[in-house]
Amino acid sequence: MIKNIYRGKKTVFSLEVFPPKKEEDFPLIFNALDELKGLKLDFISITYGAGGSTSRRTLDIASYVQNTCGIEALAHLTCVSLDEPAFNKYLGKLKENQINNVLALRGDRPKDMSDEAYGSRPYKYAIDLVNNIKQKSDICIGGACYPEVHPESRNQEEDLYFLKSKIEAGADFLLTQLFFDNTRFYRFYEQLVNYGISVPVSAGIMPVTSSGQIRTIVDLSGASIPAELKTIFDKYQNKPEDFKKAGIEFAAKQISSLLSFGVKGIHLYTLNKADVSTAIFENLGLK
Ligand code: FAD
Repeated sequence: MIKNIYRGKKTVFSLEVFPPKKEEDFPLIFNALDELKGLKLDFISITYGAGGSTSRRTLDIASYVQNTCGIEALAHLTCVSLDEPAFNKYLGKLKENQINNVLALRGDRPKDMSDEAYGSRPYKYAIDLVNNIKQKSDICIGGACYPEVHPESRNQEEDLYFLKSKIEAGADFLLTQLFFDNTRFYRFYEQLVNYGISVPVSAGIMPVTSSGQIRTIVDLSGASIPAELKTIFDKYQNKPEDFKKAGIEFAAKQISSLLSFGVKGIHLYTLNKADVSTAIFENLGLK
């Protein structure tokens, strides 16, 4: 279980993968996972489509990670479109596949979801998922947190209040939304401590490897962009190879400083790109 890994190690290294959209692309992700085995990761998390239609793919990949690669798998689960039978089925499948960890998430409202369906959803927030998982299973539970505040929260105080409730309900550890400015994380971490939140927190790091990636990332996450990253964008936007190298170096520098700070974990968002994860580990002297 991931909570035990955090207890036994100074720093926990993990990364996120997502299921491919097309069935025929499955071999690509399995090949990437085979390559990643060499990095000796502590766990790999597998995303879940908020609409729920890709849940089988999440489970298939989580099972491959756990049972074929021999790496602890963390299966994501979102509750925005989930009903009780689907919830019970998912929990049952996790058990059947010896997957001992779930990341309990709310998910974002699917574009085609009516106001009526959204208003009457059985599980409203991630905490409802945590409460229900706790009632039915002893699986290890992770939750999401936001160093730059969740976009729907009125302010950080409110965000921290609900985050603490999620932990009191039973979340064992936290993974952060990606960020590029470490000072935001340090400030957030201090607030967690002041708020009495003491579960392990892994910092989410996304290496930016192409100029097109930045806009989408900022739109989706609201992450602020420090001057150094802006310079990379301006200098290399028409030089893809140099951009990728500089993006990897920036992420490695970010991680290095987080390690010096004493962060409990690093969670990489490398978009299924095994070469990028490997380059980060090499850059840090960890491979
Ligand atoms: P919650 O913890 O429920 O919080 C959502 C908002 O509601 C916050 O503003 C919070 O302050 C507020 N809130 C919480 N509880 C209450 C309450 N009781 N009453 C009123 N307000 C409340 N999305 C996917 O679709 N699939 C994935 O696989 C996925 N993986 C992710 C992994 C990580 C590490 C992160 C950081 C995000 C991921 N997301 C994923 C995105 C996530 O689903 C969205 O950010 C979503 O908007 C919030 O999810 P949450 O679990 O943080 O929600």
